[in-house]
This record gives sequence, structure tokens and C-alpha cells, in this order.
Amino acid sequence: MDYHKSPFIVIWELTRACALRCLHCRAEAQYFRHPDELTTEEGFALIDQIAEMEGAMLVFTGGDPLMRPDLFDFIEYAVKKGIRVSMTPKVTRKAMERAKAAGLSRWAFSLDGPNETIHDYFRGVKGSYNRTIKYIHYLHELELPVQINTVVSRFNVDVLKEMAERVQELKAVLWSVFFLIPTGRATNLEPISPEDHEKVLLWLSELKDHVPFDIKTTEAPFYRRVLLQKGEEVFQRTKPGRDDARPFMDGIGRAPFAVNDGKGFVFISHLGDVYPSGFLPIKCGNVRETPLLSIYQNHKVFRELRNPDLLKGKCGQCEFRHICGGSRSRAYAVTGDYLASDPYCIYQPKKTNVSVKSGSSLMNEN
Ligand code: SF4
Repeated sequence: MDYHKSPFIVIWELTRACALRCLHCRAEAQYFRHPDELTTEEGFALIDQIAEMEGAMLVFTGGDPLMRPDLFDFIEYAVKKGIRVSMTPKVTRKAMERAKAAGLSRWAFSLDGPNETIHDYFRGVKGSYNRTIKYIHYLHELELPVQINTVVSRFNVDVLKEMAERVQELKAVLWSVFFLIPTGRATNLEPISPEDHEKVLLWLSELKDHVPFDIKTTEAPFYRRVLLQKGEEVFQRTKPGRDDARPFMDGIGRAPFAVNDGKGFVFISHLGDVYPSGFLPIKCGNVRETPLLSIYQNHKVFRELRNPDLLKGKCGQCEFRHICGGSRSRAYAVTGDYLASDPYCIYQPKKTNVSVKSGSSLMNEN
């Protein structure tokens, strides 16, 4: 794949409607659907465009995708077009059965704590933890692979070991560990410090060799730097011997090259607006006016994001910038500049005199 030509992951936020009030919600989800959401016909047309993109996979997100009655029509249509599809909905048994029948590759559950107290506090709804566990067991009955997503913040960083045990007990095939970006409702949560980012990533890099599930990080591209520094492969294959090892990789497909915001990755909002990521709120066009691929290939922001030599500060001087490049969303959320250094990476590039203020939550760029 060539990420200048085509994204590897297309995230479509079907709706912002959701019954939950999660503390870290990027979308600041609302109880009701927006009247100007992409229509069913516009959705099919969008899927037609995605089908033309070589090797792209589609992830339905929200809000809660299940708030759209045409969700399963979209899944069926995309699967028929040969697209690998995943989604992150809230759960009902009926929905899981329909998703399985429609050809969904994997169901992702959010689990932000290893117990009721922590998870329910995060989700803002009592009983959410127990419901999630129950539905995960049902998904196993349906033989649909399970992915568990966890958002890391100061609130749960001390219980990550227990979280990993829970992920194993629940027989997930992938643990997607997301490092908080202070945007949307997540501005109310405290991210972990740069030093703790490093500690957690080092711990994950050890853990992955001792657990049966795959580990994927989101918005921590310097995990790739951590692996390289340990002399390890950056693009691991899915755990061998697992039933879903061939069709699925990284979530539902392992990225062939380093994915970053706008680089192998594109986000479409419920209104059809196109962004380099759901956490990087710079609108670059709308699929109602411009073909998705044209926005992805040609918009200045996307083009700049795909050029690591344009990065500033420490990231710009870093020997890992082509394989890592830092989280562009975090750089933007913290500094207002999507090309600035990732403020939560403690690495000191070999040829730079740009320093990191240890113990501070922010990096000094000058
Ligand atoms: S300095 Fe930037 S490019 Fe280098 S490892 Fe850290 S985040 Fe990645």
C-alpha cells in the first residue's frame, strides 16, 4: 500500500447519538441523532468509494452506531463489496447476532477498568461493566472474535496489570490501548505524564510476549520507537495459530506501514466532514462535495501530515520520525500546531539540542 494514494483505515462516525455519557468521549455524544447526518443513500455511495481504495478497512464508530437503523445494511453492503468491517457499538444480543449474520469481522468492546467501580465511573452508567462482561461471553458463543479497547488516563494507569489479566480471562484476540488525547469530553480527564507513557509502553512491549492476545496502541506512535530501541520488529504478525490470524491483522488488519493521523488514516464525521483523525479537529472537506480520496490525497493538511520532514521541534529532528512521527492529534490538542512535537514523548533525539522538561507534562520546544 502507498499511504499517499490511499488510507489503510477509514473511520466513519455514523452518528453522534448515544445513550451513554462516557467521561472520555471524543464525540461529546448526544442523546439524539443529528438531522443532517449522511443519509442511507449517501452512506452507500461513501462505501462505494471506500471499496475502490486498495486494501482499506472500514470501522463504524459513533456515538453509538446502533442508533442508526441502517447500520446492518451498511455492514452487509460493505462486506459484499469486499471491505473488512469492524465497529464499536453499544451492545444488545440481537445486534450481535445481526452483526455476525451481516459478516462483521470483529466486535470491539470498551473496558476502561478491571472492575465495576472503575469502568462504570468512566462510562457514566452504573451496571455497564457487568453488562459488557455478559455480552463478551455471548459473543464467544457466537464465535465472533472480541477486541477490548481501553483508554489510559491517570484514573486507571495503576490498574493496567489487572486490566491485562481481565483481557486474557475474557479471551480477547486484541487489546487496543488508547492514550488519551485531551479533546471533547476527555479534556476533563488527566492524561498520564510523559514518563508514565514511556513506562506503560515499555511494560506493554514486555507483556506482548507473555499473553495470548495481540496488543495495539492508539495515539502512541512512539511505541514503534520503543520496540525498535529494544531491537524488536515494529510490524508484528498476529499471534500464530489463532483461528482469525489470516484475515485479521491490526484490529482487523495489521497495517503494512506506520499509520498516523492523516497518514494511512482518515475520519469521516456523521455530517460527512473529513478529518485526518477523530482527535484532530481540522476539517479538510466534506464527502457531499468532494470525493473522499481526493480530500485524502490532495488537501494541504493531509499532505503535510504525511511528510515527516515537515515536523517541528524534537520530532522534526528525530531519527524515528518516519516510523513514528509522534501523535499529530496530541500535538494539535496541546500546542495548536499539528506539526509540533508530540509533547508526551520523552525520547531525546540523537542530533537535537531540543530538551524535554522532565517531570513536566509538557515538553519545551525551544
Ligand atoms: S521525538 Fe517524536 S518522532 Fe521521535 S520518538 Fe518521540 S514522538 Fe516519535
